[in-house]
Amino acid sequence: MFKNFFSKQNVGENQVFFSKSVDFLKDRLSRFLIESGDSEDTWDELFEMLISWDVGFVTSERLLETIKERLKSKQFNRLDIIKELKNEIQDLLFFENKIVFERSQDSSMVILMVGINGSGKTTSVAKIANLFSNQNYKVLISAADTFRAAAVDQMKAWGDSLGIEVIGGNQGSDSGAVVFDSMEAANARKSSVVIVDTSGRLHTKTNLMDELKKIYRIISRYKKSEEVKVILTIDAGIGQNSLLQASSFLQSIPCDGVFLSKLDGTSKGGIVIAIAQELNLPVLFMGTGEDVSDISQFDSELFVSSLFGEIEL
Ligand code: GDP
Repeated sequence: MFKNFFSKQNVGENQVFFSKSVDFLKDRLSRFLIESGDSEDTWDELFEMLISWDVGFVTSERLLETIKERLKSKQFNRLDIIKELKNEIQDLLFFENKIVFERSQDSSMVILMVGINGSGKTTSVAKIANLFSNQNYKVLISAADTFRAAAVDQMKAWGDSLGIEVIGGNQGSDSGAVVFDSMEAANARKSSVVIVDTSGRLHTKTNLMDELKKIYRIISRYKKSEEVKVILTIDAGIGQNSLLQASSFLQSIPCDGVFLSKLDGTSKGGIVIAIAQELNLPVLFMGTGEDVSDISQFDSELFVSSLFGEIEL
């Protein structure tokens, strides 16, 4: 059901979403291919290119090692290196991510959005809610970020503008109680999709992680584990720091994938590759602007072909 809904034609028109990253890489790849240089220069240049694209040190090193290994017994030029780079990135990004949204029409789903404050979590909740609502699913939003001032109001304002019911408590109230009320309301209204916004206090605070575990336990009383999807919001603009934050969340709660927000604002889309390699998580959605419609399902083939498409490989 959801598989069709998140089909390529829905993301096609959003191709410009990471144009800054595409332009950045296109420029760097062209420069790389024009240069000749001896072999050490070649690998240094490639490494520098990956680092500046925010692929990160660890992942860049691994990519280089793999490409060297693949080419070691062959005569090769710089174009061959880029071909191998493209293949390797494609392999790394291949995840069965669409499974997350495959379900029968009768079953229901809870999406728990986690991530630090400012990562775009609340906006991303509204975007996903709108996506489902537009497909005639009965959606309910649980505004369980009771810590950040105005977070509940922000969520309710989104709900009002989208015509989606929001259950929320007062600032400082118990987020577990909000989630409990939301699950009860979802049962009563027969909502098929519940999306929970959670608090995003700094990841080093253990009470935040305890709170997330508690929320997860409450949801588990109502739903089977396969009906609960945890999505981590990561701000693409903050690059490698986001990986550290993500690791902290992953220690407390199992995540199914990433909502990579603010890709429109950065040229450093290489973070997608680091997320796949270092967190072993698929990017499920991309945030491509501040509007509720600025969302795309991540499609690795489309991503790679957009990046390398202009080069004759
Ligand atoms: P939260 O604290 O994690 O809930 O973050 P918010 O949802 O309040 O978002 C923080 C800021 O980022 C707001 O100004 C949003 O409009 C903005 N924002 C969220 N997602 C995106 C995105 O995909 N692109 C851009 N350009 N801005 C975004």
